[in-house]
Amino acid sequence: MNRFEPNLRIPGPTALPPSVRVAGARQMINHRGAEFATVLERVIGRMKPYFGTSSDVVILSCAGTGGLEAAIVNVLSPGDRVLAVSIGAFGDRFAKIATTFGANVTKLAVEWGEAADPAAIRAALAEEPAPGYRAVLLTHNETSTGVMNPIPILAAAIREVDESALILVDSVSALGAVPFEMDGWGIDVVVTGSQKAWMAAPGLAMVAASERAWAAMETATMPRFYLDLHAHRDSHTKGQTPWTPALAVLFQVDEGLELMTQEGASAIFARHEACAAAARAGLVALGFELFADQRFASRTVTAARVPEGLDWKTFNASVKSRGLILAGGQGKVAGHVFRLGHLGSVTLGEILDAIGILEEASIEHRRPVDAGAAVAAAQRAALEAIGSLTAVGA
Ligand code: PLP
Repeated sequence: MNRFEPNLRIPGPTALPPSVRVAGARQMINHRGAEFATVLERVIGRMKPYFGTSSDVVILSCAGTGGLEAAIVNVLSPGDRVLAVSIGAFGDRFAKIATTFGANVTKLAVEWGEAADPAAIRAALAEEPAPGYRAVLLTHNETSTGVMNPIPILAAAIREVDESALILVDSVSALGAVPFEMDGWGIDVVVTGSQKAWMAAPGLAMVAASERAWAAMETATMPRFYLDLHAHRDSHTKGQTPWTPALAVLFQVDEGLELMTQEGASAIFARHEACAAAARAGLVALGFELFADQRFASRTVTAARVPEGLDWKTFNASVKSRGLILAGGQGKVAGHVFRLGHLGSVTLGEILDAIGILEEASIEHRRPVDAGAAVAAAQRAALEAIGSLTAVGA
């Protein structure tokens, strides 16, 4: 971010650190050679702790949606009963993928802005006649609403009623930014994407599967070829990918992980927490109503309602002209919600800049704001969230 570059505050693709950009411009290498094998092994080795698993992680060349499709088609068969817990646009997408490939899907739709309710999930599972659901689909961070589901609580609720259902989690916009314990929480498949917390360009999806999920793949019959996880795992054992990988993006993810290793996971998580707290407090101080149930506020994206009477198009044009890029609303809240992303390489300085620009645009649009108060509120909230600003000052 500088005078010649906008403050890109959408929830992915996220801004690339300078060294990540350079990594993406590297000369190609032989993807069947030893150098590639070294990069692949390093990336998977450094990424695994963020999944919290000792099982195998594979790297697919596709968008996050491809990772979600891989999760579905590798462990399920047409006709399988699936409980899709949807709290927004991405939960709906996960359900749609399962339906598209012939799963028999029951959707547990939650009001947008709310998190999933463990009691409602328990009740839905209990209602299902034997042999029960084959899989439950969960969204970790619902990017369309700014809600972060309490995955360990939901997973525990599922396990109370159903020991055997596979739990598939879309963590495209959360993993790497917040703690995750796939093995400890009993999750079977987790999906993430290169353009979110990993600070790289779009193009790679990373998928981890539990031993139980790998076993389920032996009998699952949904059609798959390009996204076959077994083919990827087999190829990875030889230091390769089955098809030509998005090599430039892999170089970027490798460099992103180098930066993440230097910073350390706990500092990364604290930075995201501080930036999220600042974003929320700043927006509230500017008179915006937050969209999400704040008990489950996301640590990677904040959604706010467009106030009654504010012409969003002209307001957003003022914001953009000052160098701040926000995301609009998705699906049924398009035009009613705007979103501020705070994941990946985000710093507190960038969030304070965003709040300052929103304040300037608010003053220009004669919204009643107390000049200077929102940035101060944001900074104070960041400090209160983590007790120190050292982790976010970079
Ligand atoms: N799931 C979630 C929660 C997301 O935020 C996104 C993208 O924003 C996706 C899935 C889809 O990822 P992609 O756009 O890379 O296909």
